[in-house]
Amino acid sequence: MPAEAETEPAGWRDGWLEHARVVPSPNYGPRPNGALIDLLVLHSISLPPGQYGGPEIEQLFGNRLDWDAHPYFEGLRGLEVSSHFLIRRDGALLQFVSCDDRAWHAGRSCWRGRENCNDDSIGIELEGLEGLHFEPAQYRTLADLCQALTRRYPIMHVAGHEHIAPGRKLDPGPGFDWAWLRQATCWPQDWFPLATAVQQNLAVSGADPGKTGAQGPDSDAAMQ
Ligand SMILES: [Zn+2]
Repeated sequence: MPAEAETEPAGWRDGWLEHARVVPSPNYGPRPNGALIDLLVLHSISLPPGQYGGPEIEQLFGNRLDWDAHPYFEGLRGLEVSSHFLIRRDGALLQFVSCDDRAWHAGRSCWRGRENCNDDSIGIELEGLEGLHFEPAQYRTLADLCQALTRRYPIMHVAGHEHIAPGRKLDPGPGFDWAWLRQATCWPQDWFPLATAVQQNLAVSGADPGKTGAQGPDSDAAMQ
């Protein structure tokens, strides 16, 4: 057995989850040396907004979206973004970037006192519209994914895009059931966003706004 296979738990290979459907995205880069991958960032996305099941999200992450196909896409023209995972409404799991690499999902962001969350987080997109509900099949896949990720990475934090980029992002929004996720994962309360933590993050972000987003792509302005 190759040495590298022995360093990863069952079900993983080079940061790819073996049971996910792989749709490689060119939008990624190396993580900084020594990055501690301890944060999961949850997002919501649907293209066009509110329409589910089409190929447009995969096309966006693959830089293959036809910007002229829908008026909403005009605002995404030229956007180069990605996420590690997408969970469809039916619970199907897709992976676009190895979790060992840096995907481009968070943009300008700050959480647990560290900026540029793309450096050391894993991005999970839930197909949906921010503020609205998500499907039971999506929660089941998410819970399984969370457990798989904790076997491979030293996860100790989970937050929404709305928490790590307050005032700029709103996803996944109030339709996401954080209490359910906490119960399903049995993770400690202090791994989850709290009102006090959000306030602290706002204070950190507000203390030195000029520093945020200094490194790496921050091209998700039009993405949820
Ligand atoms: Zn987002």
